[in-house]
Amino acid sequence: MIANVLTMIRKRSRTVIGAALLGCGLMTPQAALAADCPNPNALGTSRTLVVDPREHPRIGTMQYPETLPLADHEVVLTFDDGPLPKYSNQVLAILASQCVKATFFTIGSQARFNPEGVRKLIAAGHTVGTHSQNHPLTMNKMPLEKVRQEVDDGIASTLAALNGDKSKLAPFFRIPGLMRAEIPEAYLASQGIQVWSADFPADDWRHISPQRVYDLAIQRIEAKRKGILLLHDIQPRTVAALPRILATLKERGYRIVHVVPATPDRPATPTQPQQWFLHPPTETVATTRWPKIPNFVFTATRTLPAPVFADMDWRDADILDHAQRARVGVPVRTLWPQPQLSQLASVSSLPIPAADVFRVPEALDLTLLAARSTASRRLAQRATAPGVSAPRAQAFSARQARHPKQAAHQAPAAAHGRAPHAAPPNASNASVRVAKRTPRAEATATSKRVPD
Ligand SMILES: [Zn+2]
Repeated sequence: MIANVLTMIRKRSRTVIGAALLGCGLMTPQAALAADCPNPNALGTSRTLVVDPREHPRIGTMQYPETLPLADHEVVLTFDDGPLPKYSNQVLAILASQCVKATFFTIGSQARFNPEGVRKLIAAGHTVGTHSQNHPLTMNKMPLEKVRQEVDDGIASTLAALNGDKSKLAPFFRIPGLMRAEIPEAYLASQGIQVWSADFPADDWRHISPQRVYDLAIQRIEAKRKGILLLHDIQPRTVAALPRILATLKERGYRIVHVVPATPDRPATPTQPQQWFLHPPTETVATTRWPKIPNFVFTATRTLPAPVFADMDWRDADILDHAQRARVGVPVRTLWPQPQLSQLASVSSLPIPAADVFRVPEALDLTLLAARSTASRRLAQRATAPGVSAPRAQAFSARQARHPKQAAHQAPAAAHGRAPHAAPPNASNASVRVAKRTPRAEATATSKRVPD
């Protein structure tokens, strides 16, 4: 107990000292990392980003809506298909000279041939994810069983090189050839593994010159200004282009971010949902201003009697009476499909919806007003259309004026759909009622729809 308290005090004082140093500008995270770097002019790793694969199962704008939550001019380096000693070792040396941390996606069969290569990646502090066992370019056509085998074997082979230490392997996976499909994506998500696409490739797997690899990498990074760069640590052209890519990134003020997975001891870096988009939609995009649809949560404690089949019968006495008094024709019965009585009989009660279900957000209210004004215009047009008898509509309006209370009671009945077949009186009723409101509804909706 005392030991715990002492440890806590020691931790706290360290935090306070660290915070004080940061506050005085004596030490920044970048400076702290740079202090471990023998090269004073190195590009360095500016920060470590901790991500939770379960919260964001697919990233990389080449294929998915989301990508890593990077700031402007932040780049994440990734290398696929290794380890292959001849080139992977050179890539490691280049990264070490610039004190840059990257993410490697290893192939299981490569790891089996070169387990030492996997251990070197870990020893250098890089993140290691996997890239299948045999690098098939057909994962988008594979059945689940084959996908599972490729993924699991690739992980097992890489883990074998790490003596089975799962803490050293990140739950990150890149689909070979980026051949994405629902089956591999769903399987990986079910395993808590994050699928990494990329934000820009440099085409270093093609037969192009190192100069071309460099040009493509820089052009594409500059176009998006931040993101995940896809490279391969098994290609000589990549080895040749990499020093210049890193030098140019430093010259132009880019920063390298190292990504690691969240663990129980290492929580994910706090982020906002919009940070996971390369270019978050602005306030001027309608979807960002659209009100959220409320979640319908029903209380389980109180119930209402379930309606019985007879309640749904069109021969409702009120409707019939109303139709006769309005001197319109008795509604014609429509032949709806008959529900199974046996099914209805089994339900005796329904839960009462919670009160907040009916709370309409302010913005949604505006939308409803706008929708209602459109509907009212249509109803008004229909009421004056040649197909609708004008005297009948006038007669009804006059009756409404004489019996305002009765008219007021008709609205809920119509709203609850109890008189769906009494179309003529209800249509004219609605047209009269809504038409009165239209100018005010239009004015309100129009004035509030203007962006402020
Ligand atoms: Zn690959």
